[in-house]
Amino acid sequence: MCKFQKGFTKSSDRNNPIFASEYQQSLSHSSSVANYQSRSYRLNKFHLKSGVSVGKMRAIQVPGPKQPFELVEKEIPIPKKGTVRVKVQACGICHSDSFTKEGLFPGIQYPRVPGHEIAGVIDALGEDAGGWNVGQRVGIGWHGGHCKICTSCRRGDFMTCSNIQVPGISYDGGYAEYLIAPIEALALIPESLSPVEVGPLMCAGITTFNALRNSGAIAGQTVAILGIGGLGHLAIQYAVKMGFRTVAIARGKEKQPLAKQLGAHHYINSEHQNVSDELKKLGGAKVILSTVTNAEAINSAIEGLSIDGKLLLVGIPEKPLSASVLTLIAGRRMIEGWPCGTSINSEDTLSFSAMSGVRSMNQVFPLEKAEEAYQLMMSGKARFRVVLETGL
Ligand SMILES: [Zn+2]
Ligand SMILES: [Zn+2]
Repeated sequence: MCKFQKGFTKSSDRNNPIFASEYQQSLSHSSSVANYQSRSYRLNKFHLKSGVSVGKMRAIQVPGPKQPFELVEKEIPIPKKGTVRVKVQACGICHSDSFTKEGLFPGIQYPRVPGHEIAGVIDALGEDAGGWNVGQRVGIGWHGGHCKICTSCRRGDFMTCSNIQVPGISYDGGYAEYLIAPIEALALIPESLSPVEVGPLMCAGITTFNALRNSGAIAGQTVAILGIGGLGHLAIQYAVKMGFRTVAIARGKEKQPLAKQLGAHHYINSEHQNVSDELKKLGGAKVILSTVTNAEAINSAIEGLSIDGKLLLVGIPEKPLSASVLTLIAGRRMIEGWPCGTSINSEDTLSFSAMSGVRSMNQVFPLEKAEEAYQLMMSGKARFRVVLETGL
């Protein structure tokens, strides 16, 4: 019998965070069979509900912190209990992939395959993958699994799980032809969206969509989007489709036509206009969604918040912010951060995008050009998201 027709499952509960890293390692390196046996992994009989394709796959991995990507051949992994195997068709490249590439995430184990903007098809089921079927099209984003036992999980707030798993960080991600993912990470893809369209919506899309729909703004109120980049160009579209009076803010006049094309009702050129004054002329912004990394750009907008207005942060500024506390107190204004969301939020994002026509603008590369594609994303010159295609 081929050794890959057996599965290896640790005898302890995989949901126990104490074992999470070992469990994830077992997901990531299915070829190191001897290693698992030597580490007392128990060999269990493994049942797959579908034909198991075994063999090799192509993957792009990071061998260690700050090292170039390498194209490698790996064993096609076998799904364990509570997981499925996904044949990856497309995977977006997100700025957060630099956590893996540059070794910025504490505890990350190498080699590691990055990627958390994944679109593909379920091609094999592990045990207890109830409710999911081979052939279903699924997306996987930043929220790649949760522990179910921490305080947040016990409250049903899976996004803030203290043992959250992230594809491409906790386990091998989407820069590969296949990956294994826990079922709680899966979002169904609507028929009308292509894999390349889905990729960026799994992180950039859900982050902006979910932040805006939970922002407290209601139809007709003024929402400003700070920055027109990978996140901002999606945020403008979502804000318009949600019925907000949408103000796009960016440096220079070059992006004004694009802002209009994306549906923005107003444009503020932060190079030549005082952003807060311009927002005040519109009655103040109920929400300013910041997608930029420039702290000064954010600081200069805060005074433009309306009474009860909210500065909502989805981009991480390079420096600390400075805001007038008097401004916050006097107008009950607030500053809030927003993480992306769980798989059902991703599913909502995809449905809304399919329904309303929101799409990211993408530059597409084949999987083997990951290095070139990643460098383009890091240069800030991508227009606006970069997506890898596997050709499967
Ligand atoms: Zn991301
Ligand atoms: Zn948890």
